[in-house]
Amino acid sequence: MTTVETSIFESLESEVRSYSRNWPSVFESASGAWIRDEGGREYLDFFAGAGALNYGHNNPVMKQALIDYIAGDGITHGLDMSTVAKREFLKSFQRNILEPRGLDYKVQFPGPTGTNSVEAALKLARKATGRESIINFTNAFHGMTLGALSVTGNSMKRAGAGVPLVHATPMPFDNYFGGVTEDFQWFERVLDDSGSGLNRPAAVIVETVQGEGGVNVARPEWLRALADLCQRRDILLIVDDVQMGCGRTGPFFSFEVAGITPDIVTLSKSIGGYGLPMALTLFKPELDLWAPGEHNGTFRGNNPAFVTATAALDHYWADDALHKSTLAKGERISQIFSNLAQTFDGVSTRGRGMVQGLVFADPGMAVKVCGIAFDEGLLAETSGPSDEVVKLLPPLTITEAELDHGLSILAEATAKVFA
Ligand code: PMP
Repeated sequence: MTTVETSIFESLESEVRSYSRNWPSVFESASGAWIRDEGGREYLDFFAGAGALNYGHNNPVMKQALIDYIAGDGITHGLDMSTVAKREFLKSFQRNILEPRGLDYKVQFPGPTGTNSVEAALKLARKATGRESIINFTNAFHGMTLGALSVTGNSMKRAGAGVPLVHATPMPFDNYFGGVTEDFQWFERVLDDSGSGLNRPAAVIVETVQGEGGVNVARPEWLRALADLCQRRDILLIVDDVQMGCGRTGPFFSFEVAGITPDIVTLSKSIGGYGLPMALTLFKPELDLWAPGEHNGTFRGNNPAFVTATAALDHYWADDALHKSTLAKGERISQIFSNLAQTFDGVSTRGRGMVQGLVFADPGMAVKVCGIAFDEGLLAETSGPSDEVVKLLPPLTITEAELDHGLSILAEATAKVFA
């Protein structure tokens, strides 16, 4: 391993840093699925900004669009101004994403991050219904501000934040009890029971695949039953597609697999296309109840991100090539992981599209696998309540040869921890 000067990070940067703090490298440059440290060492990146780099590092299509924009003195900060960059993004989003799917959503720019989108979604649901509480799910992750944190499951992340501002009641996610919950009849009984203590909720917020929660995959029929319940009971359905949207599971929106139409959708991470901060909140037109200025902030609608986002949508979503190749590559990962699960005791696998998890009964093993993989030139992170899942989020644009190379590193790392 290269020796790098990391001491300033230890002496000056807060302990709150978490994700890649265990990678003892200082990274300098990156392209495609590869990232390099300042010592010149190359790593395959199967972490990809926790899903913010679906099109890879410094994707050439977006890079050129950004260079041209900057060279032409394009607006970098326009707040709520109508700008050419924003107009082109909205047109592209309508043309490439909404229209082909027959979706009718209004678009809000809630702030730079996924958490901002979740906050807007929760606030809007409360405003639209006049109700206060939210239903969330076991192991959910929705962000770190107080509202989004209230609907996040992980107790470690909630610790120290005090009483949640939003009254949230967790329900078991699909397969939480190790078996399937076929319908929500039990929940409806609780809703109808005046003695249950459950406040009638404004909304249900759900991820179709829980990324941070350990690659827990909701079945399409479960999602349909949930959507049906929400519709019958006049509860708004929010799908948080911050991590699973933008093609991670195959289709642009992860909920397409179930054929449902959520009332509100959150998007961020890869929507900017180039790793630039950007978030969207989408909602049905009848929910556009915001008064001007009711959810504002300085960094909404980042214009350079509009430029790269437009390039990404025009290049990758004008046809279904990326969708198809994502499913094929996801299948490849799943096969290799299934082989590992058959070979080693206490290992299993789950995932959808190009978010795949290798699950270890012994959580320490998942962390060790990632450590060995790093030494062999591969970045991968753990997820799940005990960090028991090696979660793969490679760029969707990775080549098959690169994918196979990374998977062989992981297979060898797994064999090593069992040796
Ligand atoms: N929702 C989900 C499903 C996420 O995975 C994340 C980030 N991991 C967030 C919300 C929060 O997004 P951000 O970190 O951009 O604020």
